This record gives sequence, C-alpha cells and structure tokens, in this order.
Amino acid sequence: TFITFEGGDGAGKSTHIAFLADALRSQGREVLCLREPGGTLIGEALRGIVLDPSHGAMTPEAELFIYEAARAQIVSEVIKPALEAGKVVLCDRFYDSTVAYQAYGRGLSLDFVRSANAFACQGIRPHRTVLLKAASSADSLHRATRAQGADRMEQAGLDFHERVNQAFEGLNQVDPQRVRVVESSGPKSETARAVFRAVADCVGW
Ligand code: C5P
Repeated sequence: TFITFEGGDGAGKSTHIAFLADALRSQGREVLCLREPGGTLIGEALRGIVLDPSHGAMTPEAELFIYEAARAQIVSEVIKPALEAGKVVLCDRFYDSTVAYQAYGRGLSLDFVRSANAFACQGIRPHRTVLLKAASSADSLHRATRAQGADRMEQAGLDFHERVNQAFEGLNQVDPQRVRVVESSGPKSETARAVFRAVADCVGW
C-alpha cells in the first residue's frame, strides 16, 4: 500500500506520518517512511542541492528535473521493491507537490510537469493521498519558518505560497477517489484520528 502526504509547508505532514506509522507498526505491519526529495543517497544529495540557498538562484526548469531525478531514483530503488514485498509505504510529498510547487508555484507548463511526473514514476501511483490543510497560507508559512528556519523556497514569499495552496486545494477535485482532505488546524490528536479514517480502507482497518 502506497500512501502519500501532501500540503503546504508546516501543515504537520511529518508528525502525522509518524503517528500513522506507529499505529500500523503496533499491529505488526511493516512500514517504510520516506520523504521527497530524498529517501536514497542520490535523492538526499539532490535535496541538498535544491534546498540550499548558497548555490544561488535555480531556474524553475532545473528545479523540476532535480525533483524528477530524485523521484525516479526513490521509485526504482525503494518504493517499487517495498510495495512488491507487501510493505506500507508512507511518503512525505510525492508528485502532487511537483504540480503544486513547480507548475502552479513556479509557472511551468502543467502538461509538461504531469508528463515528467509520469515518466519518473514508472507506473507507480499512490493508493491514497492525504492532503493536510493548515488554516491559512500565512499561518502555515509562519509555522514552517519557525520550525525549520527560512529556506530558499520559503523566501519566495506569500504570493507563491498562495498559488501553491490553491493548487493543493484543487487536488481532490482532480482525483477524488485517491485524495482525502484533512483539516490540520485543530488539536493534533483530532487530526491524527482524521488521518486514520482517511486511510482506513487502504490499510484494511
Ligand atoms: O516539506 P518539505 O521539508 O519536504 O519541503 C521542503 C521544501 O521544498 C519546501 O519549502 C517546499 O516549499 C519545497 N518543495 C518544492 N517543490 C517540491 C517539493 C518541495 O519547492 N516539489
């Protein structure tokens, strides 16, 4: 089972992935938690390149190919084999983030981004995508900036984040079977329960 988590920065993806992984493991399920970009040595190196502001301004085109390169690597090296072995794979961001950030955020062609996603994924698709929704862009941006310090992406400003959040908002209309929206502005325990409900049918609960 392949479950991805999406949402703007600071929506609580890593926290809720950890809660879900604990719950599944306590029932004896084998769970793999991954993050994108990353999850492989090559992917983590690419993550360093794309998120480090000291390399200077990266073009949106270059950025897209780095994300897709990291994705192609994690799909072949980690996700495909894990799914074949019957594991539950939880991934912090996947191709929907590329649509949101590189197409809606940076203004690259949506069609091209979708084709690049399909090419990198080699037929792998998430069974379920949990879209964590923070109260507002400004809110989640503050939370993210407090939590990690501003990186190159967060310096892009509120306009950029508004566009990205709008793209995420539209996600469940594109693919309502796969995508479930979960409000993450309330207490953590409530959000966690909502996440469990959102994936219940996929994990056999
Ligand atoms: O949430 P996470 O730490 O994975 O995101 C790292 C940064 O990468 C975020 O600031 C996000 O804005 C950016 N990102 C991006 N394009 C993607 C995925 C993430 O710009 N496809």
